[in-house]
Parts: sequence; structure tokens; C-alpha cells
Amino acid sequence: MRRAIFPLACVLVVALQAFSCKEKEPEIVQQTLSVSPTSLSFEPEDASAKLLNVSSNSGWGVASSADWIKIDKSSGDGNGSITVTVTANTGDDRTGTITIKGVSSTNVKAASDVTVSVSQRGKKIVQVVPAPASFDGNKRSSTTYQLLIYTFADSDGDGVGDFKGIQSKLDYLDGLGVTGIWLSPAHPTSSYHGYDVDDYSTVNPLFGTEEDFKALVDAAHAKGIKIYMDYVLNHSGRGTEWFKSLKADPSGSPYRDYYVVSKSPDADVAAGLVDNYAGALSPGMGSWISLGDGNIGYKGRLHFKVDWTKSIKTVTVTETTEDAQKANASAKLWLYIGSVGNVGLYETSTNIFEITLDVDTSWGFLVRSSTTAWDGGTKYGAKAGKNVITFGEPLNLDTSTAADITFGAATYYFGSFGEYMPDINYGPYETASESPAFKAIAASADKWIKDFGVDGFRLDAVIWLYQAVIKANQSFLSQWYDHCNATYKAAGHDDDIFMVGEAWDGHSTEKQYYKGINSCFEFDYLWLVKATLDGDATGYVNAVNGYINDHKAIRPDAITSIFLSNHDQDRVAETLGKSVAKEKQAAALLLTTPGKPFIYQGEELGYWGTKAGGDEYVRGPIMWDKAGKDCAKKGVNNKVNNAMLTASISVEAQDAESGSMLNVYKTFSRLRNTYPALANGEMTNANLSGRSIASWYMTSSDGQKLLVIHNVAGSAKTTSVSDDMSKPVALLGTASYEGTNLTLGANSSVIFQLK
Ligand code: MG
Repeated sequence: MRRAIFPLACVLVVALQAFSCKEKEPEIVQQTLSVSPTSLSFEPEDASAKLLNVSSNSGWGVASSADWIKIDKSSGDGNGSITVTVTANTGDDRTGTITIKGVSSTNVKAASDVTVSVSQRGKKIVQVVPAPASFDGNKRSSTTYQLLIYTFADSDGDGVGDFKGIQSKLDYLDGLGVTGIWLSPAHPTSSYHGYDVDDYSTVNPLFGTEEDFKALVDAAHAKGIKIYMDYVLNHSGRGTEWFKSLKADPSGSPYRDYYVVSKSPDADVAAGLVDNYAGALSPGMGSWISLGDGNIGYKGRLHFKVDWTKSIKTVTVTETTEDAQKANASAKLWLYIGSVGNVGLYETSTNIFEITLDVDTSWGFLVRSSTTAWDGGTKYGAKAGKNVITFGEPLNLDTSTAADITFGAATYYFGSFGEYMPDINYGPYETASESPAFKAIAASADKWIKDFGVDGFRLDAVIWLYQAVIKANQSFLSQWYDHCNATYKAAGHDDDIFMVGEAWDGHSTEKQYYKGINSCFEFDYLWLVKATLDGDATGYVNAVNGYINDHKAIRPDAITSIFLSNHDQDRVAETLGKSVAKEKQAAALLLTTPGKPFIYQGEELGYWGTKAGGDEYVRGPIMWDKAGKDCAKKGVNNKVNNAMLTASISVEAQDAESGSMLNVYKTFSRLRNTYPALANGEMTNANLSGRSIASWYMTSSDGQKLLVIHNVAGSAKTTSVSDDMSKPVALLGTASYEGTNLTLGANSSVIFQLK
């Protein structure tokens, strides 16, 4: 029986097995997986979150390859997003990946992983390397060089500068980028500096001939350099034919009206008869000087009584028949009488001193409290212009001018700058151009403009033309300008003649002189530069625009002349404490500022010197080469600082040294010639942050735009710049930037071209 059951069981098992083999297998699905975008890039300090969008039909995992790549999740399911951020990058450029991994499950077959590349720029420091455009040869800087003829360059070996010497150095001036030269006075003179002109109609033979001068003007013009003559209108020297004639015959000279002359200055001033005072009651500066004429002496017996009891001391002189006395040998107060010398007085009561003398003097007398000292308040005489004593009337004694006390009237002339420079008289200011002196001097100016091609003038001491009376000076200058400009136009020029005045006063007074002429030196500018380089740059731009706007408000064609120092001031190197870094930056400031910049001879070489030892020490010669050839030391009578005139500071040495003072001047002057925006653009404040940062835009009328930045601090400073810094065109010192942060080294300057 057991055998009979087996087949049935077997059939059942097989049947079950057959049923089992027919059951459906589970369906396997292929995962879909994609991501967008497939790459991400970040800036060095990028803190923004970026999204990755994942598309999938099932679950996925996500991981980043580096810990600086942050993701907000480690997995997801279906469509989803991943937020990606990065840490700040202080190192080099870096890259990484984010991997989205496919995930298998019972019925899902995982897709291949997809990756996203992630990159982040490193924090990169960009060093500023200037690449200025090449100069097109069209000089436009309006930079002018103040040149001292007597010490610039000597061509003939006499040690004094001369016209041919200047001509031989025109390449130097051209290389310095200047478009004009202000020549120190070129006329005959009895001084080394020339500000006492003895003849306006010709040139100083020490400097060469008129032909030499003409050759210089022509050669300068060929290099695009204009020539401005220094004209001294306030006063002449005493060597003019006019003054010599006046001196020889004060009453009868035909040139008496050329000078400010009076026999009774005080009375004439009080009566308004001295035109030069233009209504002022005192001159502000200067004095009356006797021409030594007239019967000013006395012969006869006189009694002198000096009253020393009060603060105002007096002397009274009377004619007398009393017996004459001998001098008091033990006196403590003396008369000084020309032909006799010191005469001791007797103290007849406390602080009353007297004597009776036989007098024979051709001039007059003084009272002295010392027989040896001539100053320090020991010499008592008359107040200037009140010299004549009236017998029997006390005369107040004066120690400031202590002029000779005379017995009759002489003729006096007025000198704003003392006896060697008699002031010229142009009569009432309203009609100055009709005065004989004006006509004579204007005729000489016409000669220089018409026959020699001179392009303009620097006018000396214009404040003193009419004793600081502004409306009178304005009127005079206007008449002078109009005369010269008419001559200039008649000579074929289309533009107006350039005329810059030395109105040496603060800006509020100086600006008023623009009513007469089209330019004045802005004497406040040096002190603005000084304050700026002392560390506070915040007021620079507004101050400069203040000057310019004020000038243009008075005269639309105003040209603001700016400078760092001149022949009458301590050199700018001294003002800046002999800091070479500051001197270089002063040059960069000067040459990146709107207006007409003047470079004073020697500044471009870093020369120093004060007036303490004499004006010569701020007017020294140029050391051209290492051997000292052409050096015009005798132009200042060898009053030079030889420590400065060395081979290593010479033009030859500085030319060869990149970064020398000379090359800083050359670089920035060339830049001003290259970029119209710098030469004649408008200045607007860029207001970059930092007390030591002066920053401005210069924009030309055709849209060229530069960004000028100076760090005047003695240490590096960083400021934020939102403008494009990819096009630097000038650099003094060092500059670099990271992103928008610009770091300028100590006393460093940079210019970027924006458009
Ligand atoms: Mg010479």
C-alpha cells in the first residue's frame, strides 16, 4: 500500500511546485536623478546662499567634498532643493564638488551619481601698476616754471645765468612738461634780482643782448613754451633816466611827475594831494625819503632844549645871541650835528638838556642817547615827512624812522620798498593810463609783446600800486590789462593775454584783484597744502573749489594760479620739514589740482633753504651735472649752500634715478599734459572715507573722467572705492586693492581712469 500512496503525494507536490513557479516577479524601476545648475561659483567673501534643484522619482543622498562647502541636508526624496553656502576664502582659489547619490530600494534601481562643481575665488591682492596712455605731443598742462635768469644756467662762463643759458636748457624744461616760463625781471638793474628796474625798454646786458632774448623767446615757442616777463609797475630803480633827472633837479625835472614827490608829505597826504595814496591817510608800507635838495642846513647861533621828562620827548630850537658853549664832556645825551659829530648836552634840571652852539651844517641834526650805537632806540629824529623844525616850537622826537631834523624843506619821494625803489606815480587812478609814466612803461610792454612775441606778464607787488586801496588798484590793473591785451590782439593772437598778479594777501583780498587782471597767485594754497600734508586732507577739495569758484564769480575767464613757494618765501622743502616724501606728494597734489600750477626753480630737485641767511639762499643756482658745469653761482654772489649743490642731487643724477624728486615732477606733469581731464577738467569731491584721504574726480568737457586719490598720512591707509580700479594711470608710493578695499602706502597717490 505504501507504494500506492507515493505517486499521489508526488503529484500533489509537483502540482504545488508548478503553481509556485508561476507566481509574478516584483517590478524594478530605474531611478531618475538630475540637478540644476551643475556648477556654482562664489566670491572670496560670498555669504549668499545658492540653491540646487534636484529632480528625482525617489530618494537620494547628498554630500560635499570639502568642509568649506556647506549643505543644508544629507538626503531627500523626490523633487527637492539643496541650499549651498561657503565659508569666506582667505587663501587661494579653490574648487570642490557636491555629489547627489542615487539610492536603491526594493523596486528601484539607483541612478548614477550626479555632481555639481563648486568654485570660489581666492582673496586676491591686486598691486596697482600704472599704465598711462602715451602722450600725444599736444602740451596742455598749463604748468609754468618760475625761472630766475641770474641763477638758472650760465652759458658764457661768467658764473651768472643768461638768456643763452636758458635756451640751452629748454629741453630740460620741455621734459619737465612746462608750457610756460615766468622769467625774473630781465631789465637793466643795479641789484642781482632785478626788482629795481633802471630801464623798461631793454634787457640787462649781463644776461645778453636783445637778439639773445628774441632767440630765447622763439626757441621756447618752438617747444610749445610761452614766455611771461616779470613786470615791476609799482616802483623803479634809482638808475632810470627819470629818477636821475629828478635827483639832479627836483623842482625842474620834466620827470617829476613820474614819481611820488612832495616837499610836505604829511600836509599833502592830509590834503589828499598825493594821488598814490588814493585817499588813504597812511601808506601801509614804505616811507618818504629826502632827495637831499633845498636849503635844509643852517649857519648861526642856536639854543637847543631837549625835554626828556615825558614819554613823548621833544626838542625846541631857538635862534639866540647868548654865548655859545662847549660840549659837555660828561653828558648822557647828545646832539649829532653833521659837520661836528656828537655834542654833549648839559642837564639843566631833571631830564631837561640844553646847550647853545654856533652851528654850520649843510643838513640838520639828530638826538642820541648813545655815542656809539645807531639803532636799538638810541637814535631820535623826526617822523618821516615831518623833518623841518620851526624855531621856538617843540618837535616830537621819533625813534622808529628817526629822520634827520632839518632847518628847511627838501623834496621827498615815496618808496613802498624803501629808498632804492622809488614808487612810480600814475596820477589819479581813474585816469592812470593817461599819466606819462604809464604811457612810457606801456610803450615798453608793447615792444616786448609786438616785437619779441612775449606771451604775458607777471606783475609785481600790485597791492602797493595805490597803497592797498583795492578799488584804485583794480582800476589801474584793468587799464593796464586792456592796454596790453589790445596790443597782444593786434599782434595776431586769438586768445587773451595772460597776466598774473602778485596780490600777496589772504584769499578774500586777493580774489578782488581779478577785477583787473585774469590771474593772481593764490597765496593761501601753500598753507592748504601744508595743512593737508600735516594729516588732515578733508578740506582740500572744497578749499580748492572755493578759490576757483570765487575767482570765476568775479571774472568768468579767471585762471587760478597755484604754487608751493616762490623767490620771496622759504622753500617748500623747509615748510614741509624737509620730508622728501611730503615734498614729492606736494608735487603730486600741485600737478593733479585744477588751476595753473607754477613750479619754482629748484623745487623739482628738492632744493631747500630759508631766507634767514639772506634771500639768496632761496634763489640758488641749478646744479646741472655732477661736475657743476653751467652752474650760475655768481648770480647770487656765491651766497649758495654747497651742501645742496652736489653731484648726487644734480639734474644728471636725478634724471637717472627712477623715483627721484625730478622724476616725480616729470611723471605728474607729463600726466597733466596727457589727460585733458587733469589739465582743464572740473574737480568734484569723491569723498572717500578717511581723514588722511583727499580724493576727487577730474572730468573733462568731453567726458574723460579720472579718480585722483592721495593718502597724506605717514602710514598706510585703507579706504573703500566703489569705482573701477582696473585702469591705474599714475602712482606715487604704493597702492593695492582687495575687492573694493584700496590700500595706499604712506604719502602715496594714485590716479585711476574711469572713462
Ligand atoms: Mg653768464
